Amino acid sequence: MRIGHGYDIHRLEPIETSGSQHCVIGGVKMEGFNKGTIAHSDGDVLYHSLTDAILGAIGEPDIGKLFPDSDPQWKGVSSEVFLTQAISLMRDKHNYDIANIDITLILQRPKVNPYKEEMITNLVRVLSAPKDRINIKAKTHEGLDSIGESRALSCHSVVLLQLRTNITL
Ligand code: MG
Repeated sequence: MRIGHGYDIHRLEPIETSGSQHCVIGGVKMEGFNKGTIAHSDGDVLYHSLTDAILGAIGEPDIGKLFPDSDPQWKGVSSEVFLTQAISLMRDKHNYDIANIDITLILQRPKVNPYKEEMITNLVRVLSAPKDRINIKAKTHEGLDSIGESRALSCHSVVLLQLRTNITL
C-alpha cells in the first residue's frame, strides 16, 4: 500500500472587480457565490490537493512540476485534466488503485454542503473509484485569518493506494 497527502490554497476575489474566474470546487461551479478564484487553471483546490496526494503516493513530481503555471497550455483549463493524468500514472505506470480517499475542505464561504454529492459523483467518474471509498468533509476557519475572512479557500486530501490485482473473483 502507498499513502499520499496533498494540500492546496487559492485566493478569492470579487468577480465583478477582479475579473477572476468563477469558484470551482470538486468540479462543481459555485453558482451564486460572488467571489472567484485567482489561479492559472480553474483553481479547483479539491482537485489540486487530490492530484498532489496521488502523485505523492506514487513518488511522482508534484502538480506544480508536471503542470507549471508558466505553461500557457494550462491557462484556464479544467483541473480534471490534472487529476485524470495523475490517475493514469497511478494505474498504468505504477499499477496502483484507489483504496480510499479522505478530503477536508477548509473554507468560510461558499457553503459547500449542498454540492458535496455532486462533487463525489464527479470523483467517482474521474477516478473510476467506488463511491463508498470517497469521503469529503468541510469545515470553516472559525472566522480567523484569510480563510476565515473568505479571502482564500484551502483543501487537504489523503489517499491510500493498493496494488492492482488482475485476479477476477
Ligand atoms: Mg492550486
